Amino acid sequence: MSQLRGGENSNLNRNSGRNTGGNAPQRPDRRAGRPLSEREIREMRARKARKMKLMRRRRRILLLGLLAVCVLTGVLVAAVSRRVRSWKAEKAAVQAAAMQESMSASAAEAESLAAAEAEQYRANLPDMGAIYGIAVNGVGWSHFFADNSYSMAPANSYITALRAPLNGQPEGMSGTIRYRVNLSGTGWLDWQENGNEAGDSAGSMPLEGIAMELTGSSAASYDLYYKVYQNGSWTTPVKNGETAGTEGQGLRVDGLWVTVTGKGAEVPEGPNGKSVDPTRPMVALTFDDGPSKYTPRILDSLEANGGRATFFMVGNRVASYASTVKRMADLGCETDSHTWAHTYLTGMSEGEILQSLNQTRDAIVAAGGNAPKGVRPPGGKINDASKAVLAKAGMPSIIWSVDTLDWKTRNAQHTIDTVLRQVQDGDIILMHDLYEQSVIAAETLIPELTRRGYQLVTVSEMAELRGGMAAGQSYGHFR
Ligand code: ZN
Repeated sequence: MSQLRGGENSNLNRNSGRNTGGNAPQRPDRRAGRPLSEREIREMRARKARKMKLMRRRRRILLLGLLAVCVLTGVLVAAVSRRVRSWKAEKAAVQAAAMQESMSASAAEAESLAAAEAEQYRANLPDMGAIYGIAVNGVGWSHFFADNSYSMAPANSYITALRAPLNGQPEGMSGTIRYRVNLSGTGWLDWQENGNEAGDSAGSMPLEGIAMELTGSSAASYDLYYKVYQNGSWTTPVKNGETAGTEGQGLRVDGLWVTVTGKGAEVPEGPNGKSVDPTRPMVALTFDDGPSKYTPRILDSLEANGGRATFFMVGNRVASYASTVKRMADLGCETDSHTWAHTYLTGMSEGEILQSLNQTRDAIVAAGGNAPKGVRPPGGKINDASKAVLAKAGMPSIIWSVDTLDWKTRNAQHTIDTVLRQVQDGDIILMHDLYEQSVIAAETLIPELTRRGYQLVTVSEMAELRGGMAAGQSYGHFR
C-alpha cells in the first residue's frame, strides 16, 4: 500500500519536474521588453538546477524513508510471526504433553474405568432372581422361597427334590434356570429347568448335592450362586454349574440358598443373620442373673453358629460388663431386664418396681445395649399387682417352658440332657450365665440345637412371628 502510494508520488514529482524544466526557457515575457542576458539565463538555469537537485534529494529521502518503513514493517512482521510461531509451538508442545499425560493416565485408569462401567451395567440390570421350592421328606413341597433366602427342612428331616423358575427376567433376554441333583442311591439325575422337579418328591431318598446354572443370554449377564446346608453347616457358595454339597458320603442336603447377581458382582453374603424362617422350628435361649465373666463365651458360640439369645440382666451388674452388653446388641441378642438388684416384684411397691426398671434400662442403654423389651421377674414370681405395674411400664413378663435348674445342679451334662430331652419348637429355655457349668452346657447346646434344625432366636423375634406380646401379660413359650 505504502509502496504503491510512493510510486504515484514519485511520478507526480517527475512530471512536475519535467513541466517546470520544459516551461522555464519559454517564459520570455517575464521581463518584458528585454531579452535575458547570458548571465541571467545561466543564473536562472542554475537556480532551476538547484531546485531540481533539492527536489530529487527530497524524493530520494522520501523513497528511502518509505523503504525504511517497508523494511521495518517486514522485520516487525517477521519478528511477530516468529514470536507467534514459537508461541504456537510451545502451546502445541504443552498440549501434546498434556495429551500424553492424559493418555498414560487413561491407560492407568482403564481398569478402574472398565470396573466402573461394569458396575454401572450391573446397577442398571433389572433385578432378576431365582425363586425355588424344596420337597421335604414326609411333608411334600414347600411354598416358593424368594431369591436370597434360606430354605430349610424341619428338624430331623431333609430335602428330596427341588424346583426353581426365574423371576423378573428382562424383556427379550433368552434362557432360564436349570438344575440337577444327586439323589442318594441313584447319583446325578438329568438336568431339569424352569420349575420342573429335579429329584424324587414322592420318594424318601435325600439329595446329596445340587448343581444349578443360567442358560441363554441370561447366563451372559447374570451369575447364579447357591449353597446347601449339609452335615450341620452351610457349604461355601458356588456358582454357575459347580457342585454344592459332597456326594457319595451319605451326607444329606437339609437346606438350600439360591441367588442371582449381576455378572461379575461380588459373592453375595446371603440373608443377614437376623432373618428367621417362620416355617422352621425355633427356640429362645435365655440367660439370667448376668452379665458375668463367662458371658463372652456364650456370645462366641452364638456368633460361630449364627444364633442369638436373650439376656435378662441384673441392672447393678451391667456397668461392670459394659463391653459385653454392647457385644450382645451388636450380635442381635436381646438385652432385657431382670430388675436392678434381683428383688422379687411381688415384694415391691409400684414406685420401687418402676424405679428398678428405669434404672436397669438406663444402665443397659448406657453400656451400648438396647432398651429392654421384656422383664423376667426374679424367681419367676409375678402376681396381678406386679403385672399391672409392668403394664404401666409397657413391659411384658417373660417366664419359660424349659427349666434346666442349672443354678441348682451346677452340672453341665445335666443341663444339656434336660434341654435336649425336653426341647420343642417355640420353647423358652431358662439358664444362667453366672455359672461356668451353665456356660459349658451352652457351648454344647448352641451348636447341637442348630444342627437339629432349631433357629436360635430372641424372645421378641419368636413372639413377633407367633402372635406378639402385650404389656403386662406373661409368656412362657410361643408355639
Ligand atoms: Zn434370676
